[in-house]
Amino acid sequence: MATIIDGKLISEQIQNEIAIEVQSIAEQGGKIPHLAAILVGSDGASETYVGAKVKACEKIGFESTLIRLPESTTEEDLIRKIGELNNDPGIDGYIVQLPLPKHINEQKIIEAVDPKKDVDGFHPQSVGRMALNLPTYLPATPYGIIQLLERYNIETSGKHCVVIGRSNIVGSPMSILMARNAAPGNCTVTLTHSRTKNLKEFTLKADILIVALGKAEFLTADMVKDGVVVIDVGITRLPSDKTKSGYKLFGDVKYDEVAAKASFITPVPGGVGPMTIASLLMNTLKASKKEVYR
Ligand code: NAP
Repeated sequence: MATIIDGKLISEQIQNEIAIEVQSIAEQGGKIPHLAAILVGSDGASETYVGAKVKACEKIGFESTLIRLPESTTEEDLIRKIGELNNDPGIDGYIVQLPLPKHINEQKIIEAVDPKKDVDGFHPQSVGRMALNLPTYLPATPYGIIQLLERYNIETSGKHCVVIGRSNIVGSPMSILMARNAAPGNCTVTLTHSRTKNLKEFTLKADILIVALGKAEFLTADMVKDGVVVIDVGITRLPSDKTKSGYKLFGDVKYDEVAAKASFITPVPGGVGPMTIASLLMNTLKASKKEVYR
């Protein structure tokens, strides 16, 4: 039976470690890390995500600033606000919560962020530096997965890693990170997507499977070999009459049957999900300590 990778626990551990470091920075009279977040409009899910990020900052002793802008904010207004944050020496890093209203070009906004403050790791410069194995801010979900592999001492060197999904925020960066000459890393990577033919032929050969396609319980036991390491990134919310809330969260992996064959597996919820906030806080600490750009 597989070892369950406890993302909630690791995320809490990381946050405790950061809290201790912040306390010692404060005791020495150093600058307290300061994260800002811009939220445009009032999308319910975005409110929840930003709220959780601000709360996590407070808990570990970071300073945080939440900038709320109305739905009607123009692209020019938002770029002006971003310029202010870029030039504010008090702010170490900031995020612009996505998605943005339709009338704003997201890519333009991502590129307006000063790469030195790009704690979401979405700026093309951050992505390029990641590909070149230079110090950078890694995007939250892939950074979280790397932390899980590292903290569970999962050997990756020389392994065959199959990634399902090639999005800019998960699959593609994950394939880059696993192939880098780094630890974790040094895998032989196969990046698969919706045009991949005979996907099962690849998944059956995987030592490590990173599943990020957004289809509930897609990966079944007949698609994996014994001893595989499975990282399930998917989160799909489906109606359920068995829960109080009226819905249930599903990963991209048929958990029970795959867990029976795997050596390590992340559950949903409680696996990759809780790691994203820890990643953002790690990036903000790096920004504050000028570890990426000296
Ligand atoms: P996305 O942008 O929708 O990308 C999905 C990818 O899966 C695409 O590259 C797509 O291929 C590929 N795909 C779709 N059907 C496939 C199939 N049958 N076989 C192989 N590949 C297939 O999704 P995303 O943003 O990466 O998110 C993926 C899942 O992770 C979602 O459930 C999302 O909610 C979840 N997620 C979780 C976290 C977390 O913190 N746990 C963070 C981010 C996302 P094409 O490129 O060819 O279309």
